[in-house]
Amino acid sequence: VSTTLVYIAIGVFFTLIFFIFLLRDSRRLYHLRSQVDSLNGQLQDEQVKEKEFSSEIHRIKAELDHSILYDSLTGLPSRQLLEDRLLQTVNQSQRYKLIFGVLFLDISRFKVVNSALGYDAGDELLKQIAVRLQSSLRQVDTVCRFAADEFVMILPQVGKAETCAYIAQRLLDAASQPFTVLEQELFVTACIGIAVYPSDGEDGKTLLKNADAALHRAKSRGNSAYQFFQKEMQTLSQRELALNVSLRHTTIYNEFSIFYQPQVDIKTKKIICMEALLRWQHPEFGLVAPREFLQLAENSGKIIEIGEHVLRTVCQQFKKWRTMNLNLTKVSVNISLRQLENPHFIYKLSQILNETNMAASSLVLEISEGVFHRLDLFEKTMNMLKHLGVQIAIDDFGTGHLSMQQIKSFSIDYLKIDGSLVQDITINQESEALTKMIISFAQTLRYTVIAEGVETKDQKESLERLGCVVMQGHLFSLPRKPEEFTLSLEKAICEA
Ligand code: C2E
Ligand code: MG
Ligand code: MG
Repeated sequence: VSTTLVYIAIGVFFTLIFFIFLLRDSRRLYHLRSQVDSLNGQLQDEQVKEKEFSSEIHRIKAELDHSILYDSLTGLPSRQLLEDRLLQTVNQSQRYKLIFGVLFLDISRFKVVNSALGYDAGDELLKQIAVRLQSSLRQVDTVCRFAADEFVMILPQVGKAETCAYIAQRLLDAASQPFTVLEQELFVTACIGIAVYPSDGEDGKTLLKNADAALHRAKSRGNSAYQFFQKEMQTLSQRELALNVSLRHTTIYNEFSIFYQPQVDIKTKKIICMEALLRWQHPEFGLVAPREFLQLAENSGKIIEIGEHVLRTVCQQFKKWRTMNLNLTKVSVNISLRQLENPHFIYKLSQILNETNMAASSLVLEISEGVFHRLDLFEKTMNMLKHLGVQIAIDDFGTGHLSMQQIKSFSIDYLKIDGSLVQDITINQESEALTKMIISFAQTLRYTVIAEGVETKDQKESLERLGCVVMQGHLFSLPRKPEEFTLSLEKAICEA
């Protein structure tokens, strides 16, 4: 019996051991299985994440492509897409012997909307213009936003060039209908330049360049005009080339003269300042306007030398006037961006002031509104100019994108309202309202407002009513040679 019991005990013992091992293994197995399950889960998560990641990359890439090819504000094709569409249209037209038109459209006085009503209003207006242009054209046409307020249209298969004129007029009519922006009714006008394939160019680049040249001509003819490209517009660039060469001659200073235009205080009836305006009597082309040659001088850097010549001559002239007892207290000189960027500008200026024995406070530097956008580049220069004691005027105000808020941050003395705005105040209520705003704003900041380009008595009276006291323009005097200014002329000018 005892042997049997021993066997049973041994049997029970081994059975127990067996179950203990079985239990341990099954727990390990269970553990391993749950590990495998969790790894599987992680793998699935990773796969889902990878899928999500790659679709996100796809989405970003598509957005990027879209933002390169389409303008984010208006949703119209961008400049990049325009190039491609032009290439396609040229290829297609070449193959099937078709003609097509390229229209370059510029919105006139768009900047005034930005200045007066703010960028949100400007953006909203651009969006509405885009919709209107698109709805005035066929499905096959392309409207592209080329720059801030410039649009380019491709009109494939027009049949004949005259069709472009008909479409251009339709676009001008559409643009001139009132827009409602921020619950205000706004009126804009546009100008269009037209180039036709293949007569005005056989590739996209030439067609664009020539449509742009035609646009410039259209703009010079006034608002709401269109203009076809003409071959003689190319000769204009030949003239540019010739002027560029002449600018390099050392004899140009004999051909330059400086004219002066008075700025009149209509209350005290005194000339408060004379603005120096450069003239070039070219031996071949006759009198060349500063706007034409100064841009070329800016591009080549020659403006630095010309600018110094102007500053020196003006300071010398001011001294002559003082000895003549002319009641003049200031002269103003236009300064370009390139001059301000020049690291030697301040040094040269103080040298000229010293040389000519001129008080810095008698000199006003006129800097165009457009230049103030680059102020970050020459903030130091501006501070040094103030330190030197010269006065600063913002020129051509109302033509650029500078908002009244931005002006507050500049240390300036004068604000010159651009002639184009002044000439509009008697015919356009918006311009009058904007001028009124500018004047009261400037008065709050204690800037002296000068209205440029005053041509008529009506304009003078309107400005006077709006609180403007200092004026400049043909009504008072054309720009004249310095020797013409005498005491008796001063009286006649101020009585105008
Ligand atoms: P700005 O400084 O705004 O000068 C005013 C322009 O308006 C002058 O043109 C002047 O002759 C013209 N103007 C004056 N009164 C009237 C008017 O009643 N009606 C009209 N329609 N125009 C009037 P200008 O002399 O052709 O000068 C053009 C621009 O060239 C100037 O605009 C100025 O920005 C630039 N400029 C002139 N001289 C110089 C210079 O020495 N250096 C630099 N950097 N720029 C200069
Ligand atoms: Mg000026
Ligand atoms: Mg001006």
